[in-house]
Amino acid sequence: MRFAGRTALVTGGGSGIGRATARRLAAEGATVTVADIDGVTAAETVRLIVADGGTARAVTGDVSVEDDVRAMVEAAAGPARRLDVLHNNAAVLSREVYGRDLDLTDMDVAVWDRTMAVNLRGAMLGVKHAVPRMGAGSAIVNTASVSALLGDADHAAYGSAKAALVSFTRYVATMYGDRGIRCNAVAPGLVLTDLARRVMSPGRLAEKAAERVLPDACEPEDVAALVAFLASAEARCVTGQTVVIDSGVTAHRPEHALRRIARD
Ligand code: NAD
Repeated sequence: MRFAGRTALVTGGGSGIGRATARRLAAEGATVTVADIDGVTAAETVRLIVADGGTARAVTGDVSVEDDVRAMVEAAAGPARRLDVLHNNAAVLSREVYGRDLDLTDMDVAVWDRTMAVNLRGAMLGVKHAVPRMGAGSAIVNTASVSALLGDADHAAYGSAKAALVSFTRYVATMYGDRGIRCNAVAPGLVLTDLARRVMSPGRLAEKAAERVLPDACEPEDVAALVAFLASAEARCVTGQTVVIDSGVTAHRPEHALRRIARD
């Protein structure tokens, strides 16, 4: 019960990693505000938390819209007007935006701008409105990605926004460290959310398996456990860091995976 009596806001809490983190923080005693652009899924996360005996409320809003983020933070801070944990986790992964984040030479500027607005400005707005409600012992955890650290042949907007989030994490940690507020990021590799299971072909999943050094891919609950650690007092000396959680994909040279594929 590391979060007993604490308040927490999880953006993008309606599914995947955000839902698992909201459930984990609530299971450890936090009063959790689940914020999502999709009010139906946010309400479902709240239902799951309450069914498990936890306390939560849902807020519908878009993290790229300042008034929405202000409302999320106000709801999460509650009558005591104090926020202990902010998990900046929402990202746009829709077919219309992420699905069109392909070749830069014919990229629609709107795809780039929407990616930055949600994935990067969203985190900035979260910090802007949360920090005045935070004090010593409060913690911010941003969800970055291994896409922040490695190149690829598509998703340059997504990867660039996540890379900026890694830098943003250090700035926030530095700016508010003297108030006892910490800021860290998690950088997941493939996480087997419902969406990932739905959209990835067996062939693609097999390719991903060859990239790992560990047998298992990460589940949302694995990321939630890391977020909870970073948000807790157990990580009281950890700030400004980005922790990769990827079953070892970024632990090795590319030829290691090629040798394994040849061997198998
Ligand atoms: P997901 O699609 O299951 O969850 C994302 C949630 O964010 C959804 O509920 C969606 O409705 C919400 N959302 C989207 N735009 C929003 C907005 N403008 N305002 C508020 N909410 C919004 O995806 P996920 O895989 O759980 O992703 C969560 C985070 O983890 C994202 O930041 C993603 O980039 C990151 N990530 C995921 C993986 C993976 O393999 N699943 C890997 C690396 C990083």
